[in-house]
This record gives sequence, C-alpha cells and structure tokens, in this order.
Amino acid sequence: MPARELDQVTVRFRDGDGWTFALREVSLCVAPGELLAVTGPSGSGKSTLLAVAGLLLTPTGGTVRLAGRDVTAAGAKVRTDLRRDDIGFVFQRPHLLGSLTALEQLVMVARLDGDRSRVSRQHAEDLLDQVGLGAVMHKRPSALSGGQQQRVGIARALMGDPKLLLVDEPTSALDHERGVAIVDLLRTLTEQRQLGTLVVTHDLGTLAPGDAVVGLVDGRLVRQPAGVH
Ligand code: ADP
Repeated sequence: MPARELDQVTVRFRDGDGWTFALREVSLCVAPGELLAVTGPSGSGKSTLLAVAGLLLTPTGGTVRLAGRDVTAAGAKVRTDLRRDDIGFVFQRPHLLGSLTALEQLVMVARLDGDRSRVSRQHAEDLLDQVGLGAVMHKRPSALSGGQQQRVGIARALMGDPKLLLVDEPTSALDHERGVAIVDLLRTLTEQRQLGTLVVTHDLGTLAPGDAVVGLVDGRLVRQPAGVH
C-alpha cells in the first residue's frame, strides 16, 4: 500500500474554554493518476483539509506526506518551495487578471519565478492546448466563457508541473454541462500527467460513476457519503 498522504490528521482550534475539531483523525491517500472527490456540508472540514494538504496549515496531530516524504514538520521555506514546485491549486473562481491574455496569465507564473525562457512560453502554450484553449490563448478573460476561464485557471495550476493538484469547488460558478466538462478535464489531466488530484465539491452530479468519493462529516472521513451513486 502506498504511503498515505494524510495519516490520522487532526486539526483543532481554540473555541472559548474548549476546542473545535475541524478534522478528526483523517487518513487518505491520493495515488499518482488518481482523482479523489471530497464532499461534505458546510463546516465539515473541507477547507481545512485542503489547507493541510496544501501545506498552508500544520495539523495539531498526525502526519502529512507529499510523494511519500514526511513534510509535517517542514519549515516555512521548505513549505513555500514545495507549494511552488509540487502542488497546484485550482480555486472556485480563477481570479484572472483582466488585462492579460490567457497565455500571459500562464507566462506570468514563470516570470514571477524568474523564468523568462522560450521553454516556459512553449510549456504555457502546450498546457493551454491540452485544456482545449489553443484557439483562444491570445484572448483576454472578458472574451472567454466562465468554463474557459476556469480552464485557464487549471492550466495555470499546472505550470510548475505539480505532483499534487488541489481543487476547491471548481464547478460552483458554472452551469451543469460546463461543470461536467471541467471535471472530465481534471480526470483526463490527472491520468495523463499522473497527478494526485483532490477535488472538494458539493456538486456530486458532475462526477462519473467510477470516481472515488469520500465524505466529511464533522471533521471525520466517511468512506461512503450519502447521495453518491
Ligand atoms: P468547510 O470548508 O467544510 O465549510 P472548514 O474547514 O472551513 O469547513 O471548517 C471546519 C470547522 O472548523 C468549522 O466548525 C469551522 O468553524 C472551524 N474552523 C475553521 N477554521 C477555523 C479557525 N481558523 N479558527 C477557528 N475555527 C475554525
């Protein structure tokens, strides 16, 4: 069995005299090439789970691993480097810059990293091709649909060739058809690029029958959440 990325992870916050438990002994594993959907009601711990997996929050207890390496106690610099090199984030909305074309949004990621090479521009073009935006890569966000903008956000998250892709409610701002297409794309990219992909979603209708789904209820992991086919 591969090492579990989250092993018995607990996160608690001070709440007056007592504690609020955001996660309680949560263990899960996302193997390369696997997409795992996490669902659960508001307040169940989904954001906390993403924050821990994204090395933005150190858990109160348990172990966090990235590609088999124990990173639970990694210092701030190591965490920042790992986030840049090994983790991609896709948000509910892609927060694109209005003045930049789709291609420039991606090239900017490399520039911020001090990389002005042709290779990174080619990489950005290839990624936009892969997410189906080859024909519109020189358009600005205002000329793109919501689904296309989300695709730019996904391609941007892949600029650093991450091993782990963390996705927060990627379809909540889209209609059903576009939402299904986005999850299909995430599934394809996960397989092609051998990513470990964790998708937090309320939108179970966008998943396919074969998708792995776990639930969170009051910070506990539930292997067979309600409402999943
Ligand atoms: P979800 O994303 O599923 O809505 P969260 O992970 O945001 O759930 O929150 C899980 C629980 O932890 C909630 O009870 C929330 O109030 C609590 N919580 C989250 N972050 C904090 C924090 N920084 N301080 C105190 N309590 C928090």
